[in-house]
Amino acid sequence: MNIVLLGPPGAGKGTQAKRIQEMFSIPHIATGDILRDAVAKGSDLGQIANSYMEKGLLVPDEVVIGLIKERLAEPDTENGFLLDGFPRTLAQARALDKVMEQMGKKLDAVISIVVSEKEIIRRLTGRRVCKSCGRIYHLIFNPPKRAEFCDMCGEELYQREDDKVETVKKRLVVYNKETAALIRYYQAQDILIEVNGEESVEDVFKNIKEALEARV
Ligand code: ADP
Ligand code: AMP
Repeated sequence: MNIVLLGPPGAGKGTQAKRIQEMFSIPHIATGDILRDAVAKGSDLGQIANSYMEKGLLVPDEVVIGLIKERLAEPDTENGFLLDGFPRTLAQARALDKVMEQMGKKLDAVISIVVSEKEIIRRLTGRRVCKSCGRIYHLIFNPPKRAEFCDMCGEELYQREDDKVETVKKRLVVYNKETAALIRYYQAQDILIEVNGEESVEDVFKNIKEALEARV
C-alpha cells in the first residue's frame, strides 16, 4: 500500500501513522520529522528549514520535493510507504505523481483526517513529544503515566517550538491557503478516504483500518 495521510496540523496524522505502519509493515515517512532531525543536527538543510518552520511557514517546495525523492528511492519503500505531512501544496502533489509514475507505482489511498480548528488549537497547545523516541502525548487527552516523561523509554518530553498558540494559528492559515486544496485534488483521482478525526484514537484507527482493508 502506498498511502498519504492528509489533514491540518494536529489532526492526529502522526498518532495514526504509528498504528498504520505496524498494520501494513510499511515505513512511516514524515517530512516534519526529517526536517526537525536536520534542524537538530544543524546541517545546511536544517538551517534553511528552521527559518521557515519557526514562523509556521512551509519550507520551499523544491527543498521538500528533493528530500522526498531521495527517501522514496530507498529500498524499504519497495512494498509500500506511508507519507505524513507530504504533499502540502499542489506543486508537491504533482511532483509526487510524477515520481510515482517514474517508479512505475501509484498511490492507493489518501486518508484525510477531518478535525475542527477549535479542536486543533486544544490538541497542539497540549502536545508533548518524547525527545528520544518521538512518541506523541497530550497533557489531557493522552497523558504519560509520569508527568513530562515518556512511558516507553523514560526520556523527557518536550513541547515543539511551533506548537505555541500564535504559531499554531499561522500554521492553520497556511493549511487553509496551501494544503486544503489537495482534498479536491485527490477526490478527483478517486482515492480520497475521509475520516472523522474527532473520535477516540482507537476509533479513528478502526475507521481507517476498515476503509483501507476495503481497498486492498
Ligand atoms: P499531527 O501529526 O496531525 O500534527 P498528532 O498525531 O501529533 O497530529 O496529534 C496532535 C495532538 O493531538 C497530540 O498531542 C495527540 O496526542 C493528540 N491526539 C491525536 N489524536 C487524538 C484523538 N483522536 N483524540 C484526542 N487527542 C488526539
Ligand atoms: P509537521 O511535523 O508535519 O507538523 O511539520 C512541521 C513543519 O515542517 C511545518 O510547519 C513546515 O514548516 C515544515 N514541513 C513539513 N512538511 C512539509 C512539506 N511537505 N512542505 C513544506 N514544509 C513542510
